[in-house]
Amino acid sequence: MKVTKAEIVISAVAEAQYPDDNLPEIVLLGRSNVGKSTFVNTLIERRGLARTSSQPGKTQTMNFYRINDQFHFVDMPGYGYAKASKTEREKWGKMIEKYLRNRNNATLIFQLIDSRHEPSEDDILMYEWLVHYGLNPLIIGTKADKISKINQKKSVNRIANILNLRSAQEVILFSSETKLGKEVVWEHIENVLK
Ligand code: GDP
Repeated sequence: MKVTKAEIVISAVAEAQYPDDNLPEIVLLGRSNVGKSTFVNTLIERRGLARTSSQPGKTQTMNFYRINDQFHFVDMPGYGYAKASKTEREKWGKMIEKYLRNRNNATLIFQLIDSRHEPSEDDILMYEWLVHYGLNPLIIGTKADKISKINQKKSVNRIANILNLRSAQEVILFSSETKLGKEVVWEHIENVLK
């Protein structure tokens, strides 16, 4: 897809603020700092639309980006930020849960996992929760440029094993540096928008 228009609609903290234009939504989930904002910017080829940060735990809002007036990317608050208080974590959890259970426009879910590490407890819980509710996410292994080719393969197998995926092919390696995975991700998005 050629992106000709990309704009931030709102950084929402409550349901009442979600856009009401009924566009399909592509949802991004992952730990804070996993690369969600970078993922959006890489896909749409806009450096600064989604706010990236090297300080984890900053994005506590749900950010809606409208792309080509055709769909929204919804960048969810990052889960599993170690320094967050219990109340903060619960608040994020509720926000994510409420969105996923009540919002019918969510047409595709990407769960991002850092390809350099084993999926964390939070990653596993998130994944299992999604599957339980029939919201099968596509798994993206981020920051793939930071590991060697051999380790990329290992990483994909490790993620697939730990999450109990049917096949390692369900993991899409992604890199904002080399653009690895970009085309495949767009194919998935275009398929659900047809
Ligand atoms: P978010 O909190 O999930 O939105 O994460 P960000 O998109 O802000 O990324 C966190 C940090 O990881 C930033 O310093 C990014 O530049 C870096 N990062 C994200 N994706 C990649 C990638 O594919 N390759 C490399 N080398 N760095 C990345």
